[in-house]
Amino acid sequence: MEKPFEQFGSMVFGEKEMADRLPRPVYQSWKKTVANEGTLDRPTADAIAHAMKLWAMERGATHFTHWFQPMTGGTAEKHDSFLEPGANGEALARFSGKMLIKGEPDASSFPSGGLRATFEARGYTYWDVTSPVFIRDNVLCIPTVFVSYTGEALDRKEPLLKSIHALSIAATRVVNLLGDKDVRSCDISVGLEQEYFLIDREHFEKRLDLKMTGRTLFGAAAPKRQELDDHYFGSIPARVSAFMKEVNSELWKLGIYAKTEHNEVAPCQFELAPVFSNGNVAVDQNQLTMDILRKTAEKHGLACLLHEKPFEGINGSGKHDNYSIITDDGQNLFAPGDKPSENIRFLVFISAFLKAVDTYPILLRMSASCTGNDHRLGADEAPPAIISIYLGSYIEDILYTLYQGHQSKKGEKEITSPFNPVSGLSYIPHDNTDRNRTSPLAFTGNKFEFRMLGSSMSASFPNTVLNAIMAESLNEIADQLEGIKYLQDVREKALDICRNIIHDHKRILFSGDGYSSEWVKEAERRGLPNIRSFIESTEILSDPKVRNLFTSLDIYSDAELRANRVILAERYSNIMGIEVRTLLEITRKDVLPAMCEELGFYSETAGTMAKGCPSFIRNRVKELADLIDETEKACEKLENAYSSLPADIFVRGKAIYDEISPLMREVRNQIDRYEEKASRRFYRIPLYEEILFAL
Ligand code: ADP
Ligand code: MG
Repeated sequence: MEKPFEQFGSMVFGEKEMADRLPRPVYQSWKKTVANEGTLDRPTADAIAHAMKLWAMERGATHFTHWFQPMTGGTAEKHDSFLEPGANGEALARFSGKMLIKGEPDASSFPSGGLRATFEARGYTYWDVTSPVFIRDNVLCIPTVFVSYTGEALDRKEPLLKSIHALSIAATRVVNLLGDKDVRSCDISVGLEQEYFLIDREHFEKRLDLKMTGRTLFGAAAPKRQELDDHYFGSIPARVSAFMKEVNSELWKLGIYAKTEHNEVAPCQFELAPVFSNGNVAVDQNQLTMDILRKTAEKHGLACLLHEKPFEGINGSGKHDNYSIITDDGQNLFAPGDKPSENIRFLVFISAFLKAVDTYPILLRMSASCTGNDHRLGADEAPPAIISIYLGSYIEDILYTLYQGHQSKKGEKEITSPFNPVSGLSYIPHDNTDRNRTSPLAFTGNKFEFRMLGSSMSASFPNTVLNAIMAESLNEIADQLEGIKYLQDVREKALDICRNIIHDHKRILFSGDGYSSEWVKEAERRGLPNIRSFIESTEILSDPKVRNLFTSLDIYSDAELRANRVILAERYSNIMGIEVRTLLEITRKDVLPAMCEELGFYSETAGTMAKGCPSFIRNRVKELADLIDETEKACEKLENAYSSLPADIFVRGKAIYDEISPLMREVRNQIDRYEEKASRRFYRIPLYEEILFAL
């Protein structure tokens, strides 16, 4: 029998494989490119491509593709075969350095937000040397960035890479200034926990709304919801277990350390968490993970729902982004150290984070948002749309003590808190036990957990934003530290900077219940923004401060930011359009006919009984007749409002949120009302109770 982990990484052309198969100089040249210290020349690229092709063909690959991430949030690929006719008509397998490095997919079918109108329709993909090449099915997949003819990013990877670069420079500056001169670069570590629902494929197939929109557009509550909490950490059903086994094996082959798997709170809801890796790879791997979850589910007669809110009335799904910054020699800059100097550094990085978040709360909120997440953020489900940070009482105490200036009483005995920058913070609990699960940004010992992300989203943009705002914050700190001669003075100054930051930004700290209505009021009092919807939050991309943030760090150009806003608004409008049309179609083709059939049944019965007809039947006839009228009326209202939406994409988005969503709700209310009593004989759409308790 095959040993469980024997296949680990077998489908990735990773560093070890490179080292084994490439001539030494070629390997070293690749390493230099990865470390941003050189570019690949043609002979090197040819040598790598050749080794890659042999490796891939040994594993059955016949095609290659430039795998990229257009701004739809998903991934795209166009397969080319290795096969080429030779001079004498024989079949050759060819894969050159040029084919590895650069591709030219037809860009016109991907959103560009107007970037293309002004330039050319062409787009190029370029190999991202920092993310390993892998094989899926029979295709060698090459992670790439996707840019326009004139170099604008048409994807989410290029800006992420640029943001990591900007952060690396800023973080390294601060680390060097604080005395550690050995550090030459920094990277981010990211661990993405993925929540999802699994349902029976048959139910999925019978629901047009799930198929078209990923969520149920109506559905009365099941008699049982999640009140018994019996799903959470309950035993995993056998069918699901078989599914998970295969998912794990697929992920392991791709070198993804899928680690924890467990049931979530809601029935049919599960979570998968990999071990963290560097940010760029983590984001790519999460895209792959989502794809594998979907495809494997299909094989097992299941459907994997990655939508943020597939079912009303029970928890939705999110993606938790665990984020830390590490140096090239492996130090985690959010980890309190053992030495006093490391503790000062820790305080500087935590303070930089407070400032970054408090300066750009709306941008952060937006980065974690999408159409589907509107049913969670700011709706009746946590986390709230208000950005705040939870540090845990221990670290909060330390910050406040620092702020109050106790540390300046050096040598005095009566220090009131455990904090003393000289003796250090070594007893900070590395794993905070007092977890706060209601906070959108929680410090968890040596990393921040950004808990707002929608489950279906690419984690690319949220990390781009975290990097950008941290880079700016750290650069400002570095500017203040630069030019100070003695290290001791640098450190004093650093603590001073922390004190000022705490003074200016402590309003962002909150350790109470983020789900409570008191917090909404308190946040308002503190002046923290509470943006209701995703579409509203996208306005922040036009904000001068945000534009300056991205352009000054060379992460996005103004044109790219404008294009992004257009793309997001178009996408919102398109998704909502699909939802509206799907709802109308199901209502008219399935629901109303069922109501009519049922009405027919009861009226006929009433007719044959005449005088002795039970009042239940007579009432039901009346009820159904009213319901039919009201349902059709609600449909018409929705249809009319939708067809008279304004054309301007931004105005349209807002109108959809403000006017169309409530009208969809009205249609839904009628259907849900019907579902509560509908006869199973006439109404054949799978109910919540059937879907959620089938596994
Ligand atoms: P919980 O469900 O309590 O939030 P999990 O253990 O399920 O926690 O997930 C934590 C995630 O954080 C995992 O993906 C883990 O690999 C990741 N992680 C751990 N340490 C770090 C770190 N230093 N930087 C980034 N991610 C980390
Ligand atoms: Mg988590």
